[in-house]
Amino acid sequence: MRRIVLLSVVVLAGIALRGDSTGKNWASDPEWVKARYGGWGGPGVNPAPGPMDAIALKDYAPKPSLVVNETSVPKAKYPAIDVHSHINARTAEQVRDWVKTMDEAGIEMSVVLTGATGDEFDKLADLYLKAYPGRFQLYCGIDTRDIDKPDYPQRAAAELARCYKRGARGTGELTDKGTGFGRSANLPRNARLHPDDPRLDAFWDKCAELNIPANIHIADHPSCWKPLDVYQERTPDYQHFNLYGKDVPSWEELIEMRNRTLAKHPKTRFIACHLGNEGHDLKLLAATLDKYPNLYVDISARDYEVGRAPRTAAKFLARYKNRVLFGTDMGREKSMYQAWWRLLESADEFMPGRIWWRYYGLELPAPVLESLYRGNAKQVLSWAKM
Ligand SMILES: [Zn+2]
Repeated sequence: MRRIVLLSVVVLAGIALRGDSTGKNWASDPEWVKARYGGWGGPGVNPAPGPMDAIALKDYAPKPSLVVNETSVPKAKYPAIDVHSHINARTAEQVRDWVKTMDEAGIEMSVVLTGATGDEFDKLADLYLKAYPGRFQLYCGIDTRDIDKPDYPQRAAAELARCYKRGARGTGELTDKGTGFGRSANLPRNARLHPDDPRLDAFWDKCAELNIPANIHIADHPSCWKPLDVYQERTPDYQHFNLYGKDVPSWEELIEMRNRTLAKHPKTRFIACHLGNEGHDLKLLAATLDKYPNLYVDISARDYEVGRAPRTAAKFLARYKNRVLFGTDMGREKSMYQAWWRLLESADEFMPGRIWWRYYGLELPAPVLESLYRGNAKQVLSWAKM
């Protein structure tokens, strides 16, 4: 009896030490060895079991001994226009606090992607635009009620025009991660409203007529379509965004839908947020920008893409400096804005970030920073007076 118990403990400990409930010995899997160690082929020492084998991946937070520069960049080098924020303030007092933080961090204007229509939009317009003219732009959403009724295309375009009169200077964030826009997420797969749907032609054309951009979020980070297993690129903090095995089109199919939309509506300016969800492959994004002159991208929430490939990203941002806009999409804390300035302006190394990999400063030259922070927004956004 005693021997059996002991044996079970040893077996269970063995499973725990390998850190995987399947009990697979990953170290004997060549694919795993390559993913884990690259050309080294192993840890270079003889590993042995120990207390770290019981640490959960979600809890791992190494403190480096590395001593390198930590640059403080309290304010953006140029007054910045943040083209990607959300309803981060709901009361007059909160809006006042936000403006104070913007002043301290060097944000001249925040674009609030409300996603709202109707009364909800009108209330937000009063809250932001009346109190602080010149400090905010508001984007409205898209009406996705009764998309099957024959009047839908005109109704959606008419609501956009109405919001424009109430101060909207763009539309967004229009999100389709595979379940379609807005309410169509509850519909069966073939009934959902995707960007290239002919029912949206009038809406996109209305954007062009009003001369306002559409901020679109189509697909998502490609890791969302990969299993949540030992090869998953992003940490467990992001696992709730995962779409692997869900009833949605593939990442490639969604990008195709977006590209068809860009081609079909050449007079409409589209800002594909989060580096068009192609920030992991800047060659691909470059080709996309070359092909579709009506496409712009914002860098919001892709600190972890530019920060892990600082040299490639700096070259890309210099080459496409007329196509990339600054955005955050990460709330309104002063430290958040300042982390962006440090990433884009300094040459600091091994900065902690939001994902397990560390960031390296891009040290962008002044003309690139100026375009990214404001110059481009001056060209791409709508500056029509109310
Ligand atoms: Zn967003």
